Amino acid sequence: MIIDGKKIASKIQEDTKKEVEELKARYHQSPCLATVVAGTDEPSKLYVKKRGKICDEIGIISKMHSLPDDSKEKDVLELIGKLNNDKNVHGIIVQLPLPKHIDKRKISEAVSPEKDVDCLNPLNIGRLASGDETATPCTPKAVILILEKLGIKIKGKNVVIVGRSKIVGRPLALMLINRDATVTICHTKTKNLKEHTRKADILIAAAGSPLLIKNEMVKENAVVVDVGINVVGSKIVGDVDFENIKNKASFITPVPGGVGPVTVAMLMKSTVEAFKQQVVRNHGLGIRNTTLTPNY
Ligand code: NAP
Repeated sequence: MIIDGKKIASKIQEDTKKEVEELKARYHQSPCLATVVAGTDEPSKLYVKKRGKICDEIGIISKMHSLPDDSKEKDVLELIGKLNNDKNVHGIIVQLPLPKHIDKRKISEAVSPEKDVDCLNPLNIGRLASGDETATPCTPKAVILILEKLGIKIKGKNVVIVGRSKIVGRPLALMLINRDATVTICHTKTKNLKEHTRKADILIAAAGSPLLIKNEMVKENAVVVDVGINVVGSKIVGDVDFENIKNKASFITPVPGGVGPVTVAMLMKSTVEAFKQQVVRNHGLGIRNTTLTPNY
């Protein structure tokens, strides 16, 4: 079965839109997502613009703060400080890549944990490592949601993740462990990758290496989730050789149209969750996990 990420995303966005309308009616305020873009990376700008359009459709205010390529680290930190203190901003995303002279770690640490919708602040990462999923990053959340929506059991399954980045592989491994999977993480120093991937009941590719996962690396009837987004010539391809694996896998996500749209939808949802925690709590009415629509 080919997993339709666009369909899953559109349902989440529809529910999120309804929730935003209810929140607006009740609190006379809209959730707001601020994006910090430092530098002139064109794909980043395009991506942020596209995301802004989806925010508009849902009723989330989207603010893009652009800083020039030669901005100093202290300029970015100052901007984040202002956004942290702005009561009308509920979620903050620092768009990567940052210019090379800016320390990514310092910037991630500066985003206040309650506005950290991409879960890069060490406090949120630490919480996740201890089994508390108060804040989780959007892409791993999208992968889990896809599996759960399709009724794919995670408990007791052998899950192999190719990729150990802070934003995808590592947090995803923690979330899968929380759901009782047996998790193997592979990376560029892994010896004989195929030996590991062939044992996977659920194989997740998040390497950023075009068509890395070949047919012979996949077990018959495995679930294959492709997180990779690679530009090859004028085409976008994943990390999985989709055409040669689609008939072997029981479920498979395409690229584009798989994990990508669901990740954006999860970002919208995380922004609304952050709004609820900040605004609803200030009204003395609510705490974490107050959901008006189904909890994904
Ligand atoms: P990243 O920071 O570059 O990390 C890539 C990881 O994959 C690293 O751990 C690297 O190992 C490993 N890796 C790379 N090539 C490999 C190979 N040939 N064999 C085994 N392991 C390999 O990338 P990322 O930010 O996690 O993103 C990964 C991919 O997902 C990219 O294509 C990105 O565009 C895409 N992405 C998609 C979404 C979405 O919404 N669909 C969201 C985020 C990212 P080492 O640690 O040893 O270097």
